Amino acid sequence: MAIWNPWHGCHKISPGCANCYVYRRDESIGKDAGIVVKTGDYDLPLKKNRQGSYKLTAGDGTIFACMTSDFFLEEADEWRRGCWDIIRVRKDLSFHIITKRIDRFEKELPPDWGDGWDHVTICSTCEDQDRADYRLPIMLSLPIRHREIISEPMLEEIHIEKYLESGLIEHVTCGGESGPKARPCDLRWVQELRRQCIRNAVPFYFKQTGAVFIKDGRTYHIDRKLQMAQAVKSGYSYTPGTGCAEAIRYVLPDRKSLTERLSKSDFRSRFHLSAEDRAYIEEKGLETVSSHAKDFVAKRLAPENPEKDGSQTPMKGHPVFTAQHATACCCRACLEKWHRIPSGKQLNGTEISYITDVIMQWIENEYRK
Ligand code: SF4
Ligand SMILES: [Zn+2]
Repeated sequence: MAIWNPWHGCHKISPGCANCYVYRRDESIGKDAGIVVKTGDYDLPLKKNRQGSYKLTAGDGTIFACMTSDFFLEEADEWRRGCWDIIRVRKDLSFHIITKRIDRFEKELPPDWGDGWDHVTICSTCEDQDRADYRLPIMLSLPIRHREIISEPMLEEIHIEKYLESGLIEHVTCGGESGPKARPCDLRWVQELRRQCIRNAVPFYFKQTGAVFIKDGRTYHIDRKLQMAQAVKSGYSYTPGTGCAEAIRYVLPDRKSLTERLSKSDFRSRFHLSAEDRAYIEEKGLETVSSHAKDFVAKRLAPENPEKDGSQTPMKGHPVFTAQHATACCCRACLEKWHRIPSGKQLNGTEISYITDVIMQWIENEYRK
């Protein structure tokens, strides 16, 4: 990876900018980050060494452009065409442009841009739902070959599934905020976004916890040095079909406390065996119902990315379906939220047995009432 900063300085335009590290860093050396200036590195990708070879080579990996500014900033309109000319020359490199100004993307776009250049990835940030709903439809409508999303600093739970469903988003990254004034990031937001990516087979990268991280309702202050390491250790980054979610460590809930929590949920405690469910159990016997439960779990919940996840369990029609809703064993999101079983992994034998057991225990208790 290499960084190319053709200009420096920026203006805050959205909530994600509040604690911008460019401002923080410039302030610490008495500089005004609000003054935008062209840098000596403007033509970095074209610079050559004494042997006459380009300084930046494909071996440097992705070239991140404008990491101390925004590529689509107004002040840079007059400089941007020159950058596109440079990018056009270096087709051997892979350029990555992260922006909070996707709505200015078309300003000074080169005439031969066509439907995008294959060696350029455009990444729109969305730190909250508002920015996601404003910026992502714009990004999807633009001629871009490679589109990515970054939610960093992630400021709230965001729902971007309708944009992921387009099949046009290649990658999603999220992370908490660093620095002394960091706003908190909650693991539940990370998990929610990750599940949306899993359902749409989009790779997901949990980059860093940020300085203030909430897990299971507890707030942790994470040292700068550990913020990325902790995110890696959590195992929450996801690449479809790689089995990477096996790295997530978790402990199944205590059954007594689970029952208590379920009984406190208005939605879960609304479910009871119907007369039809009871007649079915009477006719088939609990053993057969148990084998159906195991079967449903294995087929509809166990795959890494189950079909129609979230709506695979009918609301009625079988005592096991009723029990699945009552016990939050209905989909992978509920299994993660209520039972801590991570999404994005193939369920193993122990997990299938545990879920079947939770379902059957509920059925037996209800049946005997
Ligand atoms: S757009 Fe980026 S660089 Fe510019 S102020 Fe916002 S966070 Fe800072
Ligand atoms: Zn569910």
